[in-house]
Amino acid sequence: MIDFEFHSPSSLDDALEMLERYGGDARLMAGGTALVLQMKQRFAQPAHIIGLRPLAQTGGLSAVQETDAAEPYVEETDADETPKSIRIGALCTLRRLEDHPLLRARIPLLADAVRRVATRRIRSMATIGGGLVNGDPSQDPPPALIALGASVELTSPSGTRICPVEQLFIDYYETDVRPNEALTAVLVPVPPADTRGAYLKFLPRTADDYATVSTAALVPRNPNNTCRDVRIVLGAAGATPIRARAAEDLLRGQELTDDAIRAAAATVPDAVDPLDDFRGSSDYKRQMAAVFTRRALTQALGYNKGTATP
Ligand SMILES: Cc1cc2nc3c(=O)[nH]c(=O)nc-3n(C[C@H](O)[C@H](O)[C@H](O)COP(=O)(O)OP(=O)(O)OC[C@H]3O[C@@H](n4cnc5c(N)ncnc54)[C@H](O)[C@@H]3O)c2cc1C
Repeated sequence: MIDFEFHSPSSLDDALEMLERYGGDARLMAGGTALVLQMKQRFAQPAHIIGLRPLAQTGGLSAVQETDAAEPYVEETDADETPKSIRIGALCTLRRLEDHPLLRARIPLLADAVRRVATRRIRSMATIGGGLVNGDPSQDPPPALIALGASVELTSPSGTRICPVEQLFIDYYETDVRPNEALTAVLVPVPPADTRGAYLKFLPRTADDYATVSTAALVPRNPNNTCRDVRIVLGAAGATPIRARAAEDLLRGQELTDDAIRAAAATVPDAVDPLDDFRGSSDYKRQMAAVFTRRALTQALGYNKGTATP
């Protein structure tokens, strides 16, 4: 590993000031589960590491709180229905999130996705913010966050900006986070009560592996069993998480029958662009992305095997 200087800021402002001072030579470190490996492999060679862990207890940086922030979900809501979001501090560990009562009660899709990350040991160190900035398209939380319409809060010395998670990812390990910014929170709208979701991860090798492909599906429904709206997001299926928009368009406004779900899933191989690697060929992953889309939609709707009747 290369030599570096380790800094322990006393506040977020202090950390941001250090980022500004050391410029491209500095990297923030949260859990360190990705950064330390990248440094060992010399993919990252920062001269200055700014450790964020001592800040976890300050300024809501690891808090999980319900807010009244009017984050619109997929659609406009009635005027008398106050939209609520859950604000997750960027330094909150995945281990804490997977069992958090607020998340389990209000946004189980995200708690389920977080629980699929690697092992408990890694989840005890890795943070929700560190994973997002890492920008690995095989990670589990991003497809669920995109399906939920989540955003991130990015803070720099000049202020704060909000970026939808869907627009955060640019390429493999490349995100829209600027060198002088810290990701300070994740804002997740609480879906309407009639919404159901599922996150499925295809793991043919070991239970703690990264996904071969994964699918997050979120479906709010009308009382007449038609699909009011739907979001389907694929992980490990390209350079960034991918919305299966053609599949969503086929389902929106339709009755959610087995045939409709199969027709929608059949569009998925053309929407994705997975790598050939030791987890499988690109073509195999395209086919499995369709299979897992069908299964995720079926599971989200709580259907019994072989029938589309809830
Ligand atoms: C063996 C192993 C298996 C894994 N398997 C999975 C898996 O199956 N699924 C999955 O989803 N994840 C998995 N992970 C975890 C994932 O790949 C990342 O390691 C983890 O999410 C990074 O979180 P961290 O807090 O440790 O980030 P760090 O390693 O601290 O940082 C990662 C990057 O983000 C930057 N950064 C960190 N925090 C901030 C911030 N607040 N603001 C701005 N920049 C920041 C750092 O500078 C660095 O570039 C695995 C990790 C390991 C080691």
